[in-house]
Amino acid sequence: MRLTREQAVEAITREMRGASCLMCALLAGKPMVLAQTEHAVALLPRYGLVRGHAIVATRAHRTRFDEVETAAWQSVSRLALEVARITERELAPARCYVASLGTARDDIPMTCSHLHQHVVPVHDADARPAEVLTWAHGVERLSDDDGRLLLEQLGPAVRAALNG
Ligand SMILES: [Zn+2]
Repeated sequence: MRLTREQAVEAITREMRGASCLMCALLAGKPMVLAQTEHAVALLPRYGLVRGHAIVATRAHRTRFDEVETAAWQSVSRLALEVARITERELAPARCYVASLGTARDDIPMTCSHLHQHVVPVHDADARPAEVLTWAHGVERLSDDDGRLLLEQLGPAVRAALNG
């Protein structure tokens, strides 16, 4: 189901129940986990840019590159790579973007400063990153049923690739 940015922000704010970090709230809830390592978790967000959008985050709350452990960021990157490989294979998008949107000083508002990467399958061949990596065009709400389908389609292969 497609929501406007405002509808998604309102729903997420409600689901965070006052938590200060969206990603920590997600990880502490019942995330749809594709795969995980000691330091990183790959999940399907309830509110994504498109169907099949995955997020890979550090397990610990880290908001700056100068505080994240090298092993943790390597683990995030490795996991994002495997998710992207399986996403390309299974969902056959026109493009598959992997993006780390970086950090921000504490006084700069950001949706989520907890370090993470996005894996975004793009089915519109003409879409450019700036058009895709924004909520300006709406947000895809992943249903429980579709989430389960995607977890079954992508999860085992990502976990096998990690262990292979
Ligand atoms: Zn956090």
